[in-house]
Amino acid sequence: MHISTKLIHLHNVSHESAAVIPPMILSTTFERGENGLDYPGGYLYARYDNPNRHSLEEKLADMEQGSTAICFSSGLAATNAVLQTLQPGDHLLIPDDIYFAVRSLLDQVFAGFQITYTVVDMTNATNIENAILPHTKLLWIETPSNPSLKITDISAAVKIAAKNNLVVVVDNTWPTPYCSNPLLLGADIVLHSTTKYLGGHSDLMGGVLICKEMNPRSEKLRTIQKLGGAVPSAFDCWLLCRSLTTFTARMEIHCRNGLALASWLEGRQEIDKVYYPGLSSHPQHSIAVKQMHNGFSGMLSVLVKGNQETALRLASKLKLFKHATSLGGVESLIEHRKSVEGPSSATPENLLRISVGIENINDLIHDFEQAFEQMHA
Ligand SMILES: *Cc1c(COP(=O)(O)O)cnc(C)c1O
Repeated sequence: MHISTKLIHLHNVSHESAAVIPPMILSTTFERGENGLDYPGGYLYARYDNPNRHSLEEKLADMEQGSTAICFSSGLAATNAVLQTLQPGDHLLIPDDIYFAVRSLLDQVFAGFQITYTVVDMTNATNIENAILPHTKLLWIETPSNPSLKITDISAAVKIAAKNNLVVVVDNTWPTPYCSNPLLLGADIVLHSTTKYLGGHSDLMGGVLICKEMNPRSEKLRTIQKLGGAVPSAFDCWLLCRSLTTFTARMEIHCRNGLALASWLEGRQEIDKVYYPGLSSHPQHSIAVKQMHNGFSGMLSVLVKGNQETALRLASKLKLFKHATSLGGVESLIEHRKSVEGPSSATPENLLRISVGIENINDLIHDFEQAFEQMHA
């Protein structure tokens, strides 16, 4: 059965009413059996597991074709769990434009546990090889990256990692399993902020780690989930399962609108540059074509001709594109990245990051047309 059908039909939360839509189980505790020792329902306490979370984890593992999925209360909680598998003295490689908060987490929390890292431009696999140190244990990939949509060749990176015994983690939040399946390219762990495309409606927070294999590392991550306690609520799990029923349909439109808007913006004199891996002008377009499928997702960035003030003015003139952070929802968003990342950010001051929603594409283009007209007036 195709994954899009399974996401609609496979529900493993049973209910005696024969409800078509699975129920939400809010109970934090589950009754013991007659002998007083076992748990006939299969559940003990909601931090360890819950029927809605269990069903969600099965779906997410299936979507990435992994062995097991471990859900968290946010993408950063999932990131935190991966970093907690490292030992003091370990070193990791991260991309130069990694999701900004991951770097802050390394600097503000994990530096205190003697975890060090090197920042690498991962558009070239040789740079990865050259940065490996004797104590390097983990390779962190984000492709397309945030906010400049750089592409890393996952297969090439995996080969280098295998030679050097590095665990490969791929943040697949932006391309989603609709456009990319890093586990099939040899990565060990895929990470998602389910807050974004998987949730898809900007109304829930969540994160997940999907492991290629069941092994001591995946067991450790499961332990960190259960004992660290950053677990998603039953309601968030239920809501995310509901969102997944429309995932394929939404992504089809995000990809189509993303490419259409990127192509249109590339032809405008008000825009200096468009970063979108689906454009043939993108420096790593051929790698994107090789490792992505069904499209290139709905994220793009533009350099506005001018400075920070011009970029902020354009964002403020748009009506449909809300000037707000985050991404992956049905509604289009635009954001001035440098001002959210702070003074240490290397993001250009005239860069706007766009999350293209699933509105009608002509309405989205008209919104930019009227904004450009207002700027000229
Ligand atoms: C949003 C995001 C995260 C962090 O996820 P939260 O759910 O906000 O904690 C990590 N990586 C990427 C690529 C993201 O876009």
